[in-house]
Amino acid sequence: MAGEPQEDCLFCKIVAGQVPATIVRETETTVAFRDINPQAPTHVLVIPKAHHKDAATLAAEAPELAADVLRETRAVADEDQLDSYRVVFNTGAGAGQTVFHAHAHVVGGRGLAWPPG
Ligand code: C5P
Repeated sequence: MAGEPQEDCLFCKIVAGQVPATIVRETETTVAFRDINPQAPTHVLVIPKAHHKDAATLAAEAPELAADVLRETRAVADEDQLDSYRVVFNTGAGAGQTVFHAHAHVVGGRGLAWPPG
């Protein structure tokens, strides 16, 4: 069923506390934690607690939860006092998605080039 925890999902395990993560914020529906391989001074992942495989699926299956995730990206940026930052949802392996549980990267704290690689 949509949103149910998946046994083989790393981010579901972080939500369940079975895999350690440096959690910076938590709400009823979301968790935000520092990326284990940061690409900038601030690199935080915001995930829905419920399992949806990518941002497109999340938006289709649970639009209010997608809004919660977006709201939390702003809260993370505020906590790290970022005026400018980037929110990235890698969607699909071809775009660099490696963990198939929807997540927003919040990246900032340095200049960011455009277009991305
Ligand atoms: O968008 P993508 O799926 O590639 O992002 C997954 C992110 O999850 C990577 O940036 C990776 O460093 C991060 N990660 C993490 N903690 C883990 C495993 C992966 O922060 N235990």
